[in-house]
Amino acid sequence: MTQQQEYNLQFYINGEWCMPQKSVETLGVIDPSTATEFTQIPLASVEDVDHAVVAAKSAFEQWSETHVETRLTLMERFLAEYENHYEEMVVAISTEMGAPLQVSREAQAETGVGHTKEAIAAMRSMTLETMTGSGARIVREPIGVCTLITPWNWPINQIVSKVVPALLAGCCVVLKPSELTPLSADLFAQCIERAGFPPGVFNLIHGEGSVIGPALTSHPLVDMVSFTGSTRAGIEIARSAADTIKRVSQELGGKSANIIFADADLEAMVIQGVQECMYNTGQSCDAPTRMLVEASVYDKAVKIAKRATEAHTIGSAHQEGDHLGPVVSATQFEKIQNYIKIGIDEGAQLVAGGLGKPEGFEKGYFVKPTLFSNVNNTMRIAREEIFGPVLVIIRFEGEEEAIQIANDSDFGLGAYVSSSDREKARRVARRLKSGTVHINGAAQDYDVPFGGYKQSGNGREYSVFGIHEFQEIKAINGW
Ligand code: NAD
Repeated sequence: MTQQQEYNLQFYINGEWCMPQKSVETLGVIDPSTATEFTQIPLASVEDVDHAVVAAKSAFEQWSETHVETRLTLMERFLAEYENHYEEMVVAISTEMGAPLQVSREAQAETGVGHTKEAIAAMRSMTLETMTGSGARIVREPIGVCTLITPWNWPINQIVSKVVPALLAGCCVVLKPSELTPLSADLFAQCIERAGFPPGVFNLIHGEGSVIGPALTSHPLVDMVSFTGSTRAGIEIARSAADTIKRVSQELGGKSANIIFADADLEAMVIQGVQECMYNTGQSCDAPTRMLVEASVYDKAVKIAKRATEAHTIGSAHQEGDHLGPVVSATQFEKIQNYIKIGIDEGAQLVAGGLGKPEGFEKGYFVKPTLFSNVNNTMRIAREEIFGPVLVIIRFEGEEEAIQIANDSDFGLGAYVSSSDREKARRVARRLKSGTVHINGAAQDYDVPFGGYKQSGNGREYSVFGIHEFQEIKAINGW
């Protein structure tokens, strides 16, 4: 069976799989490892948006009144379905966005299990009603109908970290995944269907953000928009939602600083910094893409980083192994090439990688892992999100300058600090304008909130914080 025959991608509205009401337009879905189209999605029109939103609205009254235990039971059934189809999810993600099978299996698909389990636990322990000292009752209620718009880079992570808390909170949703990554969304919807959620609670449509985005984000029956993607689209969505005063939660771009002090475990922290920047072929919003190194160990750090960058191997997403896969699309490939050229033109020192495809990988969207040194924080390659395996290394003198450079960014999503002086690391962490900070390479678990300062977004996802996003707070006085 060819891949083309395997996928029959439709919308899922009001508990039924369906095709667009009017439009017969389709969009090809491309495998980035081979740059070939392997299936198509139907594209939604404004009428389909309305169909899905009305279905969600019709389901809301009953769903929002269901007992929390009912929602939890359904979500546990969803989790079982997801786990039963885990390997299919792995293959879907690798095929649609180019993460190698190992990355899809160990990280991408795994987030679906991790976030769902954590959200179930958070909902189970959440107190929905409390009394104030003055005798008012404070009630947490579902906000209503939510439009959820997600990107391609961690496709199932973003779907699960929106849909699962929204449904647990008692909201009904319309999901529009990235048009580049419809396979994981389709499989996710199948798991929701098999779990037995009532019709209209979860709805899925495919389409282009530029075409149906305005309808999805301005629809009068929609109460909230939760968006993850570029800052550009985030601005448009906030504008579109403003006329009807919808709540807008945004998880946007980043240019995260990785501060490495001279007293850090230099070898380990530089290697980890390079690997985290390049992981998922550099397509993670909180990747540590600006490495700031204290002047006294700067040259040594560049040598270590060069070795670590060049240690990466390249390969197809369909192959097992710990190599880097392609980037997602021709557009993304061109964007990264352009930034590498900008870096060279700006006078940064190209230490590893560079322009063009790696030898032997001319067909897919493969990029050379690239490292620039002698970068200063005014250069475009230090300020703008490249979203590919491109790392810049910047020199700093002392704690104050490290903090100043790290905070001198339009973004504030992730930050990383390494030092053997834990008090110094904590002091610096407190002063960074960033939604998350990692000290000495510490990983982030599922019970920790995620989101950004400044142009990296508004709101927080994951665990109890993610559920709160989908709740209204009502104060009933005189209870
Ligand atoms: P994108 O903004 O182009 O697209 C994201 C989604 O928004 C897609 O579903 C797209 O169809 C839709 N969209 C585009 N324009 C729209 C509009 N005007 N109205 C409504 N919807 C619209 O981003 P992308 O290229 O898919 O994703 C990469 C970006 O996402 C990067 O900037 C990355 O940093 C960011 N990201 C952020 C986080 C986070 O949590 N902060 C996580 C993952 C990705």
